[in-house]
Amino acid sequence: MASEKKAIGECDMCGFQYPLHQLKKNSMGFRVCPSDWEGAYNLQNHPQNKIPRVHDDENIRNARPDEGDTYVTVTTTDWLPPVYP
Ligand SMILES: [Zn+2]
Repeated sequence: MASEKKAIGECDMCGFQYPLHQLKKNSMGFRVCPSDWEGAYNLQNHPQNKIPRVHDDENIRNARPDEGDTYVTVTTTDWLPPVYP
């Protein structure tokens, strides 16, 4: 009669053989060894699947009123070199 204590299973991820009681089902339904097991998380409760709470403060500190643009009129002859005869 076969005993489950001595039964050997094969990891569905790496293919190595382990005692059957060490293999666990992962979130995809595969029987995997302890090193390939993804831990307490599965596809539903993994922290990376949740949206982080980020508070985006759009207020501007030390803001000043917009006074508009200031234009300076410069004639082109002001910056040309002098013409010597
Ligand atoms: Zn494995």
